[in-house]
Amino acid sequence: MQILTHPSPALKQHAQEVERFSDRELKSLVTAMARAMYDAPGVGLAATQVGVLRRVLVYDIDEGLVALCNPRIVSASEETTLSEEGCLSLPGIEVPVERAASVTCEASDIDGGPVTIEADGLLARVLQHEIDHLDGMLIIDRATPEERRAAIRRYNEVAHQLG
Ligand SMILES: [Zn+2]
Repeated sequence: MQILTHPSPALKQHAQEVERFSDRELKSLVTAMARAMYDAPGVGLAATQVGVLRRVLVYDIDEGLVALCNPRIVSASEETTLSEEGCLSLPGIEVPVERAASVTCEASDIDGGPVTIEADGLLARVLQHEIDHLDGMLIIDRATPEERRAAIRRYNEVAHQLG
């Protein structure tokens, strides 16, 4: 399973809700996404990044693999933090992104069971980053216009060197 990179059109798409749980297709998607994430390596991956427009994400912040379906942020702190973020779909660059410092996320596990996650620190940032992907949004879309231009310029330079 290949991770798509900017400017792949799939990365701009809004993913659809998962409606059927516990099925083989969903389990094999999560398995393939986890493998791609660990191979990269990365701490999170959204289904849109592998061209599957379903609201599924995986992450592992060194506490084991977690897969979430239909994740949504139901509350976010007013306090924000600014930090450099990378993205497997924008290899080679980092962009400063302001995010809520802590969030509450509601989701379903792959069997449809309810999950509530109270997150701060890295996990809060990962959840917001991956849910952005499910809405077709990348870190460059969260940057100021000047940062966005500079980031895309760096990205194109890196992509040119790699390719
Ligand atoms: Zn990303």
